[in-house]
Amino acid sequence: MGKKYLMETYSRFDVVFEKGIGSKVYDTEGKEYLDFVAGVAVNCLGHCHPAVIKALEVQSKNLIHISNLYWTPTQGELAEKLVKLSDHDEVFFCNSGTEANETAIKLARKYGKLTDVLGKNEIITMDNSFHGRTMGSLAVTGQSKYQKDFMPLMSGIKSAKFNDIDELEKTISEKTCGVIIEPIQGEGGIISAHKEFLMKAKDLCEKYNALLIFDEVQCGIGRTGDVFAYKSFGVVPDIICMAKGLGGGFPIGAVLANKKASVFKPGDHGCTFGGNPLGCAVSLAVIKELTEGSILDEVKDKEKIFKKEIQKFMDKYDFIRKIDGKGLMLGIHLDIEAKKIVGKAFEKGLLIIGAGNNTIRIVPPLNITDYEIKRGLKILEEVFEEL
Ligand SMILES: *Cc1c(COP(=O)(O)O)cnc(C)c1O
Repeated sequence: MGKKYLMETYSRFDVVFEKGIGSKVYDTEGKEYLDFVAGVAVNCLGHCHPAVIKALEVQSKNLIHISNLYWTPTQGELAEKLVKLSDHDEVFFCNSGTEANETAIKLARKYGKLTDVLGKNEIITMDNSFHGRTMGSLAVTGQSKYQKDFMPLMSGIKSAKFNDIDELEKTISEKTCGVIIEPIQGEGGIISAHKEFLMKAKDLCEKYNALLIFDEVQCGIGRTGDVFAYKSFGVVPDIICMAKGLGGGFPIGAVLANKKASVFKPGDHGCTFGGNPLGCAVSLAVIKELTEGSILDEVKDKEKIFKKEIQKFMDKYDFIRKIDGKGLMLGIHLDIEAKKIVGKAFEKGLLIIGAGNNTIRIVPPLNITDYEIKRGLKILEEVFEEL
C-alpha cells in the first residue's frame, strides 16, 4: 500500500486503515481496533466527530484559502478565542508543531536582539525533550538520536537536565533569550515536569530577562484536563506552542504569546497556509466542543479510572515501574521494552504507542467512554498475562 513509493521515515504496522468513528478504527479487512493513540494525541474528539465534519463542510463551501494578505472571520475568531481562554495577548498561526516551535525560537532570538545585552541569543532546552524535526526545532530537541545524522545544527543552544533546578540555575545567564520546556515530555517517555521546577524556571527567566516557552504541542488542548497544560501546572509561560489536538485531526498549529514576547514586525515571519479559513473553522469547532461541553471535566474522571486500574497492574506485575503523566496523557513506565507489548496489543485490537524505549503511552480521544477505557485496559492485561 504505497510502500514502494514512500520514503521510509516510519516503521509502520502491517495494516491499512480506511475508516474511523469515535474511539474505534477499522482496517480494510473490516477488523475493529480500539484507539488509545488518537493519531498521536491529535484526534482529541475521536474520529469523524460531527462538529469537525460540519465545520469542514460549511467552511469548504465558503472559503478554503485566501492567504494572510487579507483578513478572514474564522482566523480572527479563533485568535480571539485562544487569547480569551489564556493569559496571553497575540497569536501566530502555522500548520504543525515543529513550525510552532520554530516561531517561538525566532521570537526568543528577536526578543534577545531587542535588548541592550550583546549576544543575548542562547536558548536553553531540556535533556530528553522533543520539539520537532526541522533544523531549528531539531537543534533544541534534547535527544541525539534525532540529531546525529544532520550535523551541524543551529548554534546557540544550551541544555540542562529536566526537572533539575540547580542545573538550570547554572546554565541560564544574561545571554539566555529563551528557555523551552514541555510541561509533560511526550516522545521522551511521558515524564511530567515538577511544578516547583516550572516555577523556578519562570523566576529565573524573569531574573535574566529571557522568555519562558512551553511546548504544549502534545500535552495541550485538553490532554491534561485544561485547555492549556500550563493551567494544570499553575505556571504561566510567555509563549505557548500548540498543534496536534488543535484541529482535532486537521493540520493547524499556533503560538500564543504575551505582550512582552510579541516582538514580530511585518516581514519577520510568515506562513502561507498558516491560519487558513478551513483550519481555523475546524479548530474553532474543536475548541467549542472542548470548552462548552463536559469533555474537559470528564478527562479528570477518566484519568482516575486509568490510574486506578494501572495501579492494580503495578501490584500484580513486577515489570511495571510507575505511572506518570496527567489527564489523558499517561505513561506506564516499564523495566522492559514497550515495543513487544505494543505489538501484542495491536494483534488483539488495541492501538497503543510507545514513548522512549520503556514507556507505554496512553493518549486516547478525550471523549473516549469509560466502557472503552476498561475494555482497552482488559486487553492490556491479557497482554501482560502472556508475557
Ligand atoms: C509532535 C510534537 C512536535 C512536532 O510536531 P509536528 O506537528 O510533528 O511537527 C513538537 N513538540 C512536541 C512536544 C510534540 O509532541
